This record gives sequence, structure tokens and C-alpha cells, in this order.
Amino acid sequence: MQQHTLSHPTSVTGIGLHTGKIATMTFCPAPENYGYIFQRTDLAGKPMVAALAENVVDTARGTTIEANGARVYTVEHALSALIGLGIDNVHIEIDGAEPPILDGSAKFFISALEKVEIVPQNAARKYIEISEKIEYIEAERGVHLVIEPAEKFSLEVKVDYNSPVLLPQTASLHDLKDFAKEIAPCRTFCFLREIEMMFKAGLIKGGSLDNAIVIADREVSEAELGSLAKLLQRPAIKVQKGILNTLNLQFENEPARHKLLDLVGDLALTGGFLKAKVTALRPGHLANTELAKKIRMLIKN
Ligand SMILES: [Zn+2]
Repeated sequence: MQQHTLSHPTSVTGIGLHTGKIATMTFCPAPENYGYIFQRTDLAGKPMVAALAENVVDTARGTTIEANGARVYTVEHALSALIGLGIDNVHIEIDGAEPPILDGSAKFFISALEKVEIVPQNAARKYIEISEKIEYIEAERGVHLVIEPAEKFSLEVKVDYNSPVLLPQTASLHDLKDFAKEIAPCRTFCFLREIEMMFKAGLIKGGSLDNAIVIADREVSEAELGSLAKLLQRPAIKVQKGILNTLNLQFENEPARHKLLDLVGDLALTGGFLKAKVTALRPGHLANTELAKKIRMLIKN
């Protein structure tokens, strides 16, 4: 397989989930062996931040990378779209700190990238091959990620939140060709109990019921729904089948599929396409990026 880049620049614009600020992100063609590098065009000197695990500085509710004094928040959805479409080299300009959250999935990154051609380059793709099994374990939280040698990239994810509404569920991907259709449209989710907490912590400023599946994991009073509607600037909010939303799930296991999407995006921080089988129990940005760091360490040695 050859490396691929884009024929022309292509952009997406929208509000960032955590910062609440509007930003335009432009994916530009890049030379062979370039990888993915962000550039903050809004800052003096237009600093660059390579999308690599050693640049991860925060994983609270999204993966944040930093280099040369510049940060880029919530990079995982855009990166998952690039991996999913088999694009090796892209220069990513962004005029703010956070990519648009759009509908909370990778769907609109995919459609922006598909507006231009994905063109082959001369150099062969450099796959990242794992020589032995690598694990990341957080025993007390039941987190267990395993990556092992394989001919092809595949992922299997299991989520289990001890929730009566969000039952344990699995999602898998055995061929990146299926990513755009089966995984990319799956939206991010959170629990109702987390929402007020996140607002108070200054997170999810750009959050609304349009870009997250909100799981009502307990009884919610009418009064509470009222104050939440006010907080989210919505006329009214209802609970339907345990989901605080007017939207329907696109797949029964949409939350597990979104976790798989995040995992693909976070593992892009290894710096390439993996030839490995990934099995993840209760993955999250901390676990995913720690695994990516371990892989980076092995590549460097
Ligand atoms: Zn996500």
C-alpha cells in the first residue's frame, strides 16, 4: 500500500465542545512521511503541534495535545476520520484551540475529506508492527487494553458502566473500509449526572443535545428537566427509553461504536497505521493514549 494525501485543501467549521468557540479546520495536502501535524494559525508565529502520543497533555473528556506553546483540544474525532479513510499525510490548519464538535461523531470530517480526492503518493506506507503483546491495565477501574501482533488492523471494544440503562455492549471493526459507514457516524455520549458537573468545571460549553447522546441513568424529575433545559438553552427536554434526547440512536450499540471511534483516533497518535489486533475493555482517552505512548516508546527504541 502506498501513502496517501489529499488533492486539495478541505475545511470544516463549527463550535468546539469544551471551549464553546467557533473554529475552522482545514485539512491540506502534505508531502510523503509528513504524518498529521496541526498548525494554530490564530497564534503568533503559527506554531505547529504534531499529532503524536508524546504531545498528549490532557485526557479529561477528550485528547489534548501541545507543542511549541500551542494546544489543540479534542483531536480524536478528526484523527479517526483520517485513519478511517486511509490518509497518511495531512497538514491541519486550525484558527482556534479546538476542532468543531459538529454532531459529536466523525461523520462531517469524513464528508469534508471525501469532497476532495484522496491521492496516492510514491512512498510505501510505513506500518507500525507490534512484535509482542502490549497491555494497559487500570485494575481498580476495570480498564484493560491489549494490543497484539496481527497481519491486519482490527479492534474490539467492550463498555460496561454498571448502568441499568446503558447495558454492557460491544463493537468491533475488522476492516478500515467499514469505518466511514459503521463507526464514523456514531456520536459521543455522556451520563446525565455528569452534565451539571461538567458545566461547573467549565467543560462542554459547546455541548447541546445535538452533539451528544445523554443517558439518563436515574429517575429525573420534571423540575430537574426544566432546569437542565434552561442550562442547555432548549425549550423542553424529555427522557425517552433512558436517553435524554430528541434524537434516535443510529445503532443499538452506538455508545460502544463511539468508544471504538475514539480508540482509532487516539491510536493515530502512534504516528501511523497499525498492523495489530486491539482488544479494549472500558477504554477511555487516558488508557488509549497511554497505550499509544507505550507503542511510541517501542518504535523509538
Ligand atoms: Zn469521542
